[in-house]
Amino acid sequence: MYAPVLVINCGSSSIKYALVPASPDAPRLAGLAERLGSDDARLKGTDSRGERFTQALPGADHATALAAILDCLEGQRPAAVGHRIVHGGERFTRAALIDDAVVAAIEETAALAPLHNPANLEGVKATRRLFPDLLQVAVFDTAFHQSLPPRAYRYALPEALYRDHSIRRYGFHGTSHAHVSARADALAGIRGGWLTAHLGNGCSTCAVWQGASQDTSMGLTPLEGLVMGTRSGDVDPGLHAHLARQLGWSLAEIDRVLNRDSGLAGLSGLSNDMRELEQAADNGHAGARLAIEVFCYRVAKSLAALSCALPRFDGIVFTGGIGENSPWVRQRTLGALPHFGIELDGAANAATVGGREGRIDAAGPQLWVIPTDEEGRIAQETRQLIEEASA
Ligand code: ADP
Repeated sequence: MYAPVLVINCGSSSIKYALVPASPDAPRLAGLAERLGSDDARLKGTDSRGERFTQALPGADHATALAAILDCLEGQRPAAVGHRIVHGGERFTRAALIDDAVVAAIEETAALAPLHNPANLEGVKATRRLFPDLLQVAVFDTAFHQSLPPRAYRYALPEALYRDHSIRRYGFHGTSHAHVSARADALAGIRGGWLTAHLGNGCSTCAVWQGASQDTSMGLTPLEGLVMGTRSGDVDPGLHAHLARQLGWSLAEIDRVLNRDSGLAGLSGLSNDMRELEQAADNGHAGARLAIEVFCYRVAKSLAALSCALPRFDGIVFTGGIGENSPWVRQRTLGALPHFGIELDGAANAATVGGREGRIDAAGPQLWVIPTDEEGRIAQETRQLIEEASA
């Protein structure tokens, strides 16, 4: 299938798009429709010459924005549309060709991702209405982690909560962990045991053995695990009851504080942005220093814990905005893992930034920086599924 795949990531008031050509070297048309439903709705993107554009779309809804996105594809007709869907529950262990039954199943899973799945489905429904003859595929953030064994996905809670209410660990960022671990396999020439660290605004780690996720740091929701931009990651599960009893906070308030006011932003009292924090820490800002220290220690602690899931440990892969661009975070994280026996190549670490791929170890297990490509992976899974369906 040589025609490009249109990748759509639909949020409640935004649509990210990328037209991914079959050849990895060809340029991608990509952009973002944002503030949908408001008077300031607009479409921002990059054309095939690399020029940026902004188009006002006052009052546009998802369907209007999708039609405008199609107009920006410079006459290229996609072979198919790949939709990013956050939660596939236990039903979806891989991508799925979208039909009425798949839409209904995604709707049923909405209780597990009430903010994300309904918004993702808006995009699916609008695209199906606008382009009924285009094949559409749902690619799930959770699917890659469906290979987790029960010892990794079960919480130590009453069995009925799992059986009757699907409460278990699911994991997220699956397309990213799948992409970078497959790339590490290809670069190293092995079917390896990798620990992958996706460090962006959202952050998660994953243990991948021979292409299958064995354990991951996110759980029922994307709040579990690492310190993130504004999310707390792991806290004592008793914290909710404590805040409710002692401060009289409602569930909604607790949810907001843990998801939006915590993480790097909460610890530093300054920003959720690692670039800003690194600058502030250089200038002696105590909150920024603490935030980076906690962040790196928690990444290291998570990697050490996940190493238990691998029969053999071949190395670590860093990805995401922070993982790809911050030699400082990589160095501090490894500094807390001396027992892994990895010697960092300081010069290679400093030079591997700005979307560069590279190996940064001097001795011991391998250490890779591999740029993530969630859109590329969604396009690849979409192509694969459609080829299988037409075979
Ligand atoms: P998202 O999860 O929204 O896709 P990204 O993967 O783009 O986010 O990651 C955003 C994070 O990457 C921010 O904290 C940002 O500060 C950080 N980042 C980007 N460039 C650098 C850099 N040069 N040094 C340190 N952190 C960086």
